[in-house]
Amino acid sequence: MKKISFSRKIPVKYDVDVFVAGGGPSGIAAAVVAARQGAKVFLAEGTACFGGMGTAAGLPLFCSPEDGVNVTSSGFGTDVYEGLWDEGGNSPFMSRKDPYNTLTFNGEILKRVYDNLAKKSKMGFSFHTNFMDVSVRNGIVDHTICSAKSGIFAVKAKIFIDATGDGDLCATAGATFKKGDENGYMQPGTLCSLWCDIDWKKAMKSNCGVWQQSDYLPKAIKDNVFTIPDPHLPGMLPVGIHSAWGNVGHTFGVDGTDERSLTKALLWGRQLVMEYEKFYKKYLKGYEKMQLLGTGALLGVRETRRIMGDYVLNLEDFKKRATFADEIGRFSYPVDIHPPRPNAKSFKKFEEIFKKLRYERGENYGIPFRSLIPRKLKNVLVVGRSISCDRYIQGSVRVMPGCFITGQAAGMAAAIASDKGLQTRQVDIRELQGRLVKMGAFLPNYK
Ligand SMILES: Cc1cc2nc3c(=O)[nH]c(=O)nc-3n(C[C@H](O)[C@H](O)[C@H](O)COP(=O)(O)OP(=O)(O)OC[C@H]3O[C@@H](n4cnc5c(N)ncnc54)[C@H](O)[C@@H]3O)c2cc1C
Repeated sequence: MKKISFSRKIPVKYDVDVFVAGGGPSGIAAAVVAARQGAKVFLAEGTACFGGMGTAAGLPLFCSPEDGVNVTSSGFGTDVYEGLWDEGGNSPFMSRKDPYNTLTFNGEILKRVYDNLAKKSKMGFSFHTNFMDVSVRNGIVDHTICSAKSGIFAVKAKIFIDATGDGDLCATAGATFKKGDENGYMQPGTLCSLWCDIDWKKAMKSNCGVWQQSDYLPKAIKDNVFTIPDPHLPGMLPVGIHSAWGNVGHTFGVDGTDERSLTKALLWGRQLVMEYEKFYKKYLKGYEKMQLLGTGALLGVRETRRIMGDYVLNLEDFKKRATFADEIGRFSYPVDIHPPRPNAKSFKKFEEIFKKLRYERGENYGIPFRSLIPRKLKNVLVVGRSISCDRYIQGSVRVMPGCFITGQAAGMAAAIASDKGLQTRQVDIRELQGRLVKMGAFLPNYK
């Protein structure tokens, strides 16, 4: 490809302690927690809201906020779950007494919950603001370059947190990363969809509720309802008396770090929802009159870069319920790696792993602080679905409560480091853990 050089003077619009790229579950957690500790924070979010996949992409459920005994994602997570109840943002089929594990929510209300948490914390932020580049010397980032409606500008900060979900900031700053399996295959994406006029009571009475929908798939596949015979159907989840967000259909082969690939997947996703509409209307009871109201403003992307850090959290750690001296949280969601290919072999492997690599009640694995520290970089932390781990752990820690855990820990560490003029590796782990426990984080091994 032909290249040009481009140089110009740009304004340093913000001079802060902590810069956060991306406002998904991990980014908003990091920014709010850092700001609550007194750090001056600026967060750049590319879309029009906080929440990332959980709002802009349209997912309606928190996976494993608890392990059946403990609220492992407590702290910032609890603020979100309780905020949703206060705002009436949960499914009408739930009660406030239910465990957080069943939390199905209305994404529009979740946006408001995040807005309120952000405003109250006094963090700085703007939407429609994209992180583009970094200025980095000897592993120390001094500025990020952002683009927005007003043009290109720089942000100066002491600590930088990459919460883009794709490791954009770390990769740009020179961190090493891995992407996909040994053949480069990544989990497929999903263009989530919003539906109305579903008779949930009828669906539930007729064995067509949330967990039974996929039982009807084999017959429809045999009848050639689908262009691609995809045997994996997460399903429709109720978010209102007659409405649902659908996590249906996969965009195989998408690379979420390439806008051309994302564009292709979005075009395909919008075709695919029509096939699912046919399926639900014809084969399941309660969905006969369903209507499509919209699709996600973002493609749902499950997997891209895994940034390589000082520790790479891995399958053995999951199996042995690992504990670490520097753990900043513990988590319990099973290993959920959506099949990268729509064939029986790929699906069988997914099912085997999903059934086998899961915990009993009260079990969980530790997440070390080192898995948030990208190698080679001295004042950058990575959070959310691109932390330093193998694909097995990525299949677990990527869900939103896991992102709250890594986000809040990075926010706290960044506040400590910026306050004391430290690099990330110099943060005192006992102090970090102690301050996390004080804000309600689940750290049972901290004594
Ligand atoms: C289809 C699908 C279904 C899922 N289902 C569930 C579920 O039921 N329950 C669950 O708990 N989890 C679920 N997950 C997983 C979970 O939603 C994501 O892994 C999680 O949201 C990742 O959080 P994150 O903060 O790392 O990144 P994201 O949620 O991806 O947020 C990243 C944010 O950064 C912004 N951003 C990205 N790049 C830039 C940039 N360069 N500049 C500025 N902003 C940028 C994005 O706009 C976005 O807001 C699902 C994921 C998918 C894709």
